[in-house]
Amino acid sequence: MVVGVLVELSNQNIDRIFEYHVPEEYTSLMKVGIRVLVPFGKMELEGFVLEIKKDKETDKELKDVIRVVDSTVVLNEELLELGKWMKEQTLSTLISCYQVMLPKALKAKNGQNISIKYDVFYRLNEDASFEKLNASQEKIISLVREKGLVLKKELAELSLSSLNTLIRKGYLLEEKQEHYRLGFKDQKLVKKELTPQQKKVVSTVIEGDAKPYLLYGVTGSGKTEVYMEMIDHYLKQGKTSIVLVPEISLTPQMVQRFRERFGDQVAALHSALSDGEKYDEWRRICKGEAKIVIGARSAIFAPFENIGIIIVDEEHSESYKQSDPSPRYHAKDIAIKRGEYHHAPVVFGSATPSLEAMARAQKGVYTYLELPERVNGKGLPAVTIVDMNSAMKKAKGHFSQPLIDAIGKRLEKQEQVILLLNRRGYSSFVTCKNCGFTFKCPNCDITLTYHKSSNTLRCHYCGYGEKVYQTCPECGEKSLNNLGVGTQKIEEELQELYPMSRILRMDYDTTSQKGKHEEMIDAFRDHQYDILLGTQMVAKGLDFSQVTLVGVINADTSLNIPDFRSSENTYSLLSQVAGRSGRAEKTGEVIIQTFNPDHYAIHLVQKQDYLAFYQAEMNIRRQLKYPPYYYLCNIRVSGKNAMELFDEAIKIKKSLERNLDQVIILGPSSGNLFKINNIFRYNIILKYKKDDSLRELLEKIIDHYKSNPKIKVDIDFNPSQMQ
Ligand code: ADP
Ligand code: ZN
Repeated sequence: MVVGVLVELSNQNIDRIFEYHVPEEYTSLMKVGIRVLVPFGKMELEGFVLEIKKDKETDKELKDVIRVVDSTVVLNEELLELGKWMKEQTLSTLISCYQVMLPKALKAKNGQNISIKYDVFYRLNEDASFEKLNASQEKIISLVREKGLVLKKELAELSLSSLNTLIRKGYLLEEKQEHYRLGFKDQKLVKKELTPQQKKVVSTVIEGDAKPYLLYGVTGSGKTEVYMEMIDHYLKQGKTSIVLVPEISLTPQMVQRFRERFGDQVAALHSALSDGEKYDEWRRICKGEAKIVIGARSAIFAPFENIGIIIVDEEHSESYKQSDPSPRYHAKDIAIKRGEYHHAPVVFGSATPSLEAMARAQKGVYTYLELPERVNGKGLPAVTIVDMNSAMKKAKGHFSQPLIDAIGKRLEKQEQVILLLNRRGYSSFVTCKNCGFTFKCPNCDITLTYHKSSNTLRCHYCGYGEKVYQTCPECGEKSLNNLGVGTQKIEEELQELYPMSRILRMDYDTTSQKGKHEEMIDAFRDHQYDILLGTQMVAKGLDFSQVTLVGVINADTSLNIPDFRSSENTYSLLSQVAGRSGRAEKTGEVIIQTFNPDHYAIHLVQKQDYLAFYQAEMNIRRQLKYPPYYYLCNIRVSGKNAMELFDEAIKIKKSLERNLDQVIILGPSSGNLFKINNIFRYNIILKYKKDDSLRELLEKIIDHYKSNPKIKVDIDFNPSQMQ
C-alpha cells in the first residue's frame, strides 16, 4: 500500500503530495484524513493522508510511514475539499488551509503537551464471588453497589489500600470517561414568545431556500432570540448549527443565553479558552455531543457532519477576515461554501450591515430580512451630539457640561450608565509640542505607544520598548505632550466628578485575567456598579435592562484612520454602543462628544438612519472606486533590502500592467507599515471588477518568487485594512 501525504511544513515549494510506503502493520489503520508521521529529508514530520493507493506496487525509492498519529479522521471529506477550494481562493498553501481548520492542540509542535483528560470510575464485577471483606472494604463495595459507578477519587478517600486490594482481587472493574476541562452550568429553559415580526423572519428562513440571508435588525430588535428559535428548529431535526460572533471573549452574554436555553449541547470556541479547553470542546463537536457551536472566526470549520444552519452575527465585523498569517480567508465566504455543501441557509445578521452585504441583498443575491423595531416597542434612544469645538471651554477634563449633567441625573435616579472611550486607531503616542517630534520604533517605523504601568514606550508590532524621556531628543525642550488618554485617566476624572459613584472599568488590562470579563458583566448586571467605562468591549452585544444613558467620550478617533472603511466603522461602532441604552422598560438616551459634528457618519448616527448612511457611503465608494463597486487585492512584497525590494515591486507592477486590462494598479507604496521587525514592505493595490485571469497571473508571480529567499510575495484578496 502507498499513501499520498501532505506534510506539515508551510512552504510554497513543498506544498504538494509526497508518496510513502505503508508497512504491513499499519495498512488496516490507514484512512484519508488522518495524520501520520513520516521521514522528510533529515526530519520527521506529521502530515495528512490525502490519498490511499491500495494496490500500488512500491518501488524501492519510497520511504516507510513511521507511525499512525490519529485513530479517527481529523479532517473529513468535506473539509478536505474545502481546503482545496480555499487554497485556490486565497493563493495560500494547502497545508496552511488544513492547519487553520484544526485546534492548536492538534498541531505537531503543540501536540505533545495537551492530552485528553480522563476520569477513572469503578463499578462492581457482578461475576465475582466476594470473600470475606474487612470493614473499609465493605464500605467501598456497598457504596459502589448503591451508586453503580463511583469516581476513583471518592473511593480512594475511604481507603486507598482497601481499594487497591479490591481491584487486585477483581471485585471492581475500571471504567474511564473523558473529562472535559470546562464545567457547565445547569440549563434553565427560558424561551420567549416571539413577536409576529420575529416569527416572520424565522419562518422565512426555515421554510425558505438554503441560501444566504441578510437580517438587518436594529439593536434590541431580538435578533439573538430569532437565532435561537431557528437553531431549535434544526436541532429537532437532528441537525447541527454554527454561530459566529466577532470575538467571543467580547460577548460572553451571548454564550450565557445560548447555554441557558440549550445547555451542554452548546460548545464555545474562543480565545479566552486554554488550548486544552479548546481541544475538549472540539472533541465534543467531533463526537456529536455538542450540536451547536458558538465561536469566533475559525469556528466556521467546526467538523459537523450535518449542518442545519449557519449564523454570522454582527456580520459587518472585520474580525471575520483573517489578515495574517495566511491563509487570508474570509469566514463569511467559508460560511456560504459550507452552507451550499450541506444545503443549509446562512444568516448574516447586523444592526449596521456591511456595505458589501447590503449591496448583495439589494441585488437579490442574499434574501433581505428586517426587524426595524425594538422588541420593547420604545423606539431607539434619542441621540444628542455635543460639539466639542465649543463645549471644550466649559468642559471638565474630557467631559462636556451636557454629559456631566446627564450622568448626574441618571445616577440620582439609580439607573446605570455606559461610557465608551473610542480607542480604535487611537494612539497614545508621545509628541513634542515644540518641534513635532514623535517617538518611533527603530525596527518597525511605527509610532510607539505609551504604557503607563511600566512608564515605557512600546512597539505593538515587535515588542521593542524604551523608557520615557522628560525632554525631547530632537530639540531638547521639555515639551513632550501629555501621554495619551487611557481609560485609567478617564476613570480618575469620573471619580472626581462623582465621588460617590461605583465605577467599573473594562478594557484589555482589566479583563485579561481568565473569567474576569464574565465576572464584571455579572456584577454590572447585578447593579453592583453605576457606571461601566470601557473600550470597544462595552459596545457590542451587551444587554442590561437598567442602562438608560450611553456616553461616547470621543467619537472622532476612528474617523481619522487612513482607511476607506473608517466612516463605516465609526458609524457601526457608534450605533452599536448607542444600542446598549434603553433596552427594557425605561427609555434611554445617548450623548456623543465629537469635534466633527458635521461629518455625515456622525449626524446620521444621531438620526439612527442606517439606510441613509448606506446611500451616502455607497455614493462615495462609487466615486472613489472602492468596494462594493470594485474588488480590492493587495500584493505585499517584503524583504530586507529596501532598494532591491522597490525594484522588484516595480517589475511586478509592470508585468501586471502588461497582462491585465481594466484593472487599476496602484503603488508600489510603503503604506503606514513600511518596516516591521527590520523587514521592509511595499504594497501594490489592485482594483477590479472581474478577475478572470488575475488569480492565474498572481499564481505565476508567487511561483516566480517562491524559491527566492530575499523576496516574499503575499496576496490578500479583499483586505480588511489598508496598510
Ligand atoms: P439584538 O440581538 O437584536 O440586540 P436581543 O435578542 O438581545 O436583540 O433582544 C433584546 C432584548 O429583548 C433581550 O433582553 C431579549 O431577551 C428581549 N427579547 C427578545 N425577543 C423577545 C420577545 N419576543 N419577547 C420578550 N422579550 C424579548
Ligand atoms: Zn517595532
